[in-house]
Amino acid sequence: MIVGAGLAGLTVALHLADTCPVIVLAKRELTEAATAWAQGGIVGVLGRDDSIDSHVRDTQEAGAGLVDEATARFIAERSADAVGWLVGQGVPFTADEQGPLGLHLTREGGHAVRRIAHAADATGKAIHDALLDKARAHPNIELRQRWMALDLITSRHVQRDEPSRCYGLYALDMDAQRVEAIAARAVVMATGGAGKVYRYTTNPDTSTGDGIAMAWRAGCRIANMEFIQFHPTCLYHPQERSFLITEALRGEGGHLKLPDGTRFMASHDARMELAPRDVVARAIDFEMKKHGLDHVWLDATHLGEAFLKEHFPTVHARCLALGIDIARQPIPVVPAVHFTCGGVVADLRGRADLPGLYAVGETAYSGLHGANRLASNSLLECVVLGRTCADDILGEAPLEPAPLPAWDESQVENADEQVVISHNWDELRLLMWNYVGIVRTTKRLERALHRIDLLRGEIDDYYANFRVSRDLLELRNLVDCAELIVRSALLRHESRGLHFSRDYPRTLPASLPTVLVKGTGNR
Ligand SMILES: Cc1cc2nc3c(=O)[nH]c(=O)nc-3n(C[C@H](O)[C@H](O)[C@H](O)COP(=O)(O)OP(=O)(O)OC[C@H]3O[C@@H](n4cnc5c(N)ncnc54)[C@H](O)[C@@H]3O)c2cc1C
Repeated sequence: MIVGAGLAGLTVALHLADTCPVIVLAKRELTEAATAWAQGGIVGVLGRDDSIDSHVRDTQEAGAGLVDEATARFIAERSADAVGWLVGQGVPFTADEQGPLGLHLTREGGHAVRRIAHAADATGKAIHDALLDKARAHPNIELRQRWMALDLITSRHVQRDEPSRCYGLYALDMDAQRVEAIAARAVVMATGGAGKVYRYTTNPDTSTGDGIAMAWRAGCRIANMEFIQFHPTCLYHPQERSFLITEALRGEGGHLKLPDGTRFMASHDARMELAPRDVVARAIDFEMKKHGLDHVWLDATHLGEAFLKEHFPTVHARCLALGIDIARQPIPVVPAVHFTCGGVVADLRGRADLPGLYAVGETAYSGLHGANRLASNSLLECVVLGRTCADDILGEAPLEPAPLPAWDESQVENADEQVVISHNWDELRLLMWNYVGIVRTTKRLERALHRIDLLRGEIDDYYANFRVSRDLLELRNLVDCAELIVRSALLRHESRGLHFSRDYPRTLPASLPTVLVKGTGNR
């Protein structure tokens, strides 16, 4: 049973399907996943001028001292095979006859050499479309869209006196509005990240941290949740909350400005708009908080209409459709959550703490990303660890089945109104944005924790009394993830990578990942 039809889930499914039947759940349409939105590409250590050591070094440098070297090496060593496998699945990567495997490799920030395989600037969609086609055509893969996993079924539910393990899960069939208990020999969490915990994110609506929350509730360890990657410039617009304004626009000379037209980057970094992502994101956040702004401006008007249309056709057209002519007006932008570096602790075979449960992709913590993710490493992680996860499942002895208890709805009724859910969604995301954002203080984190406790009380109450819906289940998961982020941030008494605290601005000489264990003092 695979929860998630992004790159991680589909990779596991395709590797399993020749040997055993697989069910893949997707809580919205199958096409909705962060994978389909990835632009840049996927790492492949393929070039003659490249080496495993070089890629490991770059990953470690980005990860600011918290990358697990064995994991980074394991994944880098398998990157050529991973890209080769995708080519074999029919992914139409941009070609170059002279290039390794006939591929054009591009270079991205933080990489010492060209090692990014890509399909123009829409790599994720090319990969996702190809793998979905393969999965649809495979007789052993049952794809169920609009099915949402809501909790794992463990030894506790089947009343077995044994060390806890996973027997399956409860899932909501959204069309039938019914919850089913589904037994499985292995359950793979491939649910993506938790970007929706924050008000502004580049992530799709599916990224509500469900796998992280479900695994946590089932007793698994969760690591490094304080490391949330922000993209500096996302369009600020009520109808287009997730549209990324490419960093290349600053690279080509776009200026960041306050409402009165003043450029502000000079007071933050000598490289001005060309400073690294986290520096620019922090500077924008600083100015927004200082002046009480909803957004700042990215002004590219001086680059001229012809240049903008030629080099940035997508941004130009998309903004124009929303009434913003970027050749004549500055673009309102905010930083936005882009990637969840932490997640469910899993080994190099995807095994989580609970036997029978696996976690792969953005939902997992494998040790690859450390305190900050290197560009294009996440798609690679999905493919490499998706494969080892499938191999591990196939090597496991079949599970002795247990009768699963049916979902009990006898004590609940239909919700009388939705306002509690929608209000709490907004409140949680706003408080995370304001109190647990790019620059943190202990006081703000404690304030956030207090509010999260209050919200949790209301949500638990609602959950106990009313029939479940996707919005309610997602909100319950968002609250769990929010708490995990805040608690992890409170435990880190330094600033490192993506975590910046005004109370602890120094980076300690040595540090360890933050690992939360349910029911212990650090929770
Ligand atoms: C705009 C953007 C650009 C990016 N560019 C790059 C890039 O160039 N290179 C790179 O390496 N990475 C990039 N990333 C990151 C990368 O895309 C993701 O980390 C990666 O695709 C995650 O894959 P996944 O399979 O783990 O999750 P996803 O692709 O997000 O898939 C999650 C799946 O889980 C399902 N799901 C979630 N919860 C449930 C539930 N409770 N029940 C049932 N189904 C559920 C969803 O419906 C979905 O099918 C980018 C991300 C974004 C947002």
